[in-house]
Amino acid sequence: MADNGDTFDYIIVGAGSAGCVVANRLSADPGKRVLLLEAGGRDWYPWIHIPVGYFKTIHNPMTDWCYATEPDPGLGGRALQWPRGRVLGGSSSINGLLYIRGQREDYDQWRQMGNTGWGFDDVLPYFKLSEDQERGGDEFHGEGGPLAVSNIRVTREICDAIIDAAEQVGVPRRDDFNGDDQEGAGYFQLTARKGLRCSTAVAYLNPARSRPNLTIQTHAVADRVLIEDGRAVGMAYTVKGEPRETRCTGEVILAGGAIGSPQILMLSGIGPGAHLRDLGIDVVHDLPGVGENLQDHLQIRLIYGTRDPVTLNDDLRNPIKKMLMGIEYGLRRTGPLSMGASQVCIFARTRPDLATPDIQYHVQPWSADSPGEGTHKFSAFTMSVCQLRPESRGRILLKSPRPGDHPAIHPNYLSSEVDRRTAVESIKFTRRLVGAEALKSYVSEELRPGPQAQTDAELLDAARTLAQTIYHPVGTCKMGPDPMAVVDERLRVHGLRGLRVVDASIMPTLTSGNTNAPVIMIGEKAADMIAEDARAA
Ligand SMILES: Cc1cc2nc3c(=O)[nH]c(=O)nc-3n(C[C@H](O)[C@H](O)[C@H](O)COP(=O)(O)OP(=O)(O)OC[C@H]3O[C@@H](n4cnc5c(N)ncnc54)[C@H](O)[C@@H]3O)c2cc1C
Repeated sequence: MADNGDTFDYIIVGAGSAGCVVANRLSADPGKRVLLLEAGGRDWYPWIHIPVGYFKTIHNPMTDWCYATEPDPGLGGRALQWPRGRVLGGSSSINGLLYIRGQREDYDQWRQMGNTGWGFDDVLPYFKLSEDQERGGDEFHGEGGPLAVSNIRVTREICDAIIDAAEQVGVPRRDDFNGDDQEGAGYFQLTARKGLRCSTAVAYLNPARSRPNLTIQTHAVADRVLIEDGRAVGMAYTVKGEPRETRCTGEVILAGGAIGSPQILMLSGIGPGAHLRDLGIDVVHDLPGVGENLQDHLQIRLIYGTRDPVTLNDDLRNPIKKMLMGIEYGLRRTGPLSMGASQVCIFARTRPDLATPDIQYHVQPWSADSPGEGTHKFSAFTMSVCQLRPESRGRILLKSPRPGDHPAIHPNYLSSEVDRRTAVESIKFTRRLVGAEALKSYVSEELRPGPQAQTDAELLDAARTLAQTIYHPVGTCKMGPDPMAVVDERLRVHGLRGLRVVDASIMPTLTSGNTNAPVIMIGEKAADMIAEDARAA
């Protein structure tokens, strides 16, 4: 095995939302040598940077791992495609750009679960540190940070009508979902600067790229963490088929994401002992929680036909309008090509007795059989609704001991009664909203699930048939003090030294909203803790 002879202080595995943040912050100290390993390539593909380009980057093996789940009993045995970024920037290079932090209560709950330092007041400074808010800084927002957060650059009559309709069913208008209260309806903000995607590769890696103490190795697939006497001392990995080993004197930091990080741990012999032994992997450290506690947001995509051609489906059918979209974007970086994956966001409560919203809408003024496929030829919009804090828990297991093989993903959607009830209630709530005065004159009919679905059983069946991931898997290396936790509150792997996990997998519970901003916050806080611990050592 080639040992390239270099020694680093830190080896970071995965240049995604979290990994790029940590690489930037740790290499800001010129005295620390940092190696960043990434399985994917450089982010040269132009569609990565054009916001609407996620239609070209998801399900594309050049930029996406193209995972699929195992057949899921909760979805009537359907298997779902699970895109994950495989390129510098990771999933932040292929995601929908929507900037949402979650609710104060999410983080306060993490702290209540025994994770000191993770309450909302503790993490808010890291959200602010990362942020360059177009509207300026205030109590909740940062200005001048690496991550650009901007207003959307295109609105639409049907979207305005949906916001009005939400107000008519009791959901207030809101233009900032990341301030003191989340509940409301309004336009999303995007991780974009002047109409171009702001991935973490753009925000954090590009400014650090020329530092002599930062080495970025692309096309490097991590095989396993090298452990000696209970301490991580380096990584074994493969670059374009060539095996290599690199050692470090400080720490190995896993940022492979909610699928990659538990997979790398298990391939290294760190995980549920019986499962590893079954696959012939030597057990280095029996840690039963690795790969467990998988959580995801499940979107139910309701589609409504419109009487008039007011949707993006209509514009995309018209070659002249399509050409004008290209010209508009080329000249001003505005128009439909500057759109995030959704336009309007609604946080609502399915029951008035709930303290905070339990569902989120991603409203799209277009429709398709599934995201990433071509838009429909008829006039229609999509009301995608997801439950914010699902109780269902799945798991990730290895299928083989070979690093190149995809693991088995078992989401176990809709396996809790609360989740099934919320799915049914969310469809009923959608129908009330679409029937409100401001919207009903636009709508011709409900296309999916359609008026034939009426009883609770029929609505649940519709949810099982229509639902898709909204791409927020977390929790598979959860943080906590209990026996099923994988890392402690400083993100150090329990029972080993010199090894941390710093990505979406450490979330003990899913945040109430999109997960990119929370993962970037985790990266910021992790880098701070790593540097602090190094100073104290
Ligand atoms: C299609 C899609 C749309 C989304 N839309 C939004 C949105 O609009 N708003 C939002 O907030 N969130 C969104 N998300 C979710 C959000 O982007 C993720 O939660 C977040 O990016 C996860 O960050 P991470 O650092 O945990 O993992 P990632 O960003 O996925 O990074 C993991 C990195 O590790 C690398 N890696 C993995 N395994 C290995 C290995 N063995 N060796 C070497 N490298 C490895 C990967 O290639 C990747 O670059 C979306 C996600 C997807 C996929």
